[in-house]
Amino acid sequence: MTEAIYPGSFDPVTNGHLDLIERGSRLFSRLIVAVARNVDKAPLFSSEERVAMLREQVAGRFANVEVTSFAGLIVEYARQSGVHCLLRGLRTIADFEYEFQMALTNRRLAPDIETVFVMPSLRYSYVSARLIRETVLLGADMSHLIPASVQTKLRARLSTAREGKGGGAP
Ligand code: ADP
Repeated sequence: MTEAIYPGSFDPVTNGHLDLIERGSRLFSRLIVAVARNVDKAPLFSSEERVAMLREQVAGRFANVEVTSFAGLIVEYARQSGVHCLLRGLRTIADFEYEFQMALTNRRLAPDIETVFVMPSLRYSYVSARLIRETVLLGADMSHLIPASVQTKLRARLSTAREGKGGGAP
């Protein structure tokens, strides 16, 4: 089992996600970062934008990492891709219950697919995309927790949303 898919919403990519991608790129010979197109919550960035931001961060840094997007069940996407491993991150104990339920649900749907959990560096273990969106909206500089270009795009998107020009993913 040398290939894995790292699925998520990545709205937007944080240093915590990148920490996990780095660890995954060392564990697996090929890592596919897969952006979910059908997230329940209305995403701030479109799937194309989320993919583009991830690709920008991954380019030239991890030779064995690719970024794509998927719709529908992740286990179906994994099967179609011939990949039998899913990578997920465990930050705090709060992640555990949800991740546990999801891993067992996915196992029920696809017993041939295994979920592997990796913990990020302690300094990113409290970082979530939601926290980043909220703090940047309130004017904080979060450049120690997200890539600079992502923060620039996030500020622009949030100010558009605040001015009532629609916001959200186009
Ligand atoms: P989802 O909406 O599927 O939870 P996210 O983009 O929030 O999507 O997260 C995708 C995966 O990345 C999840 O397994 C999540 O636990 C993990 N993750 C998110 N932030 C971090 C972080 N700071 N450190 C480690 N893993 C993280």
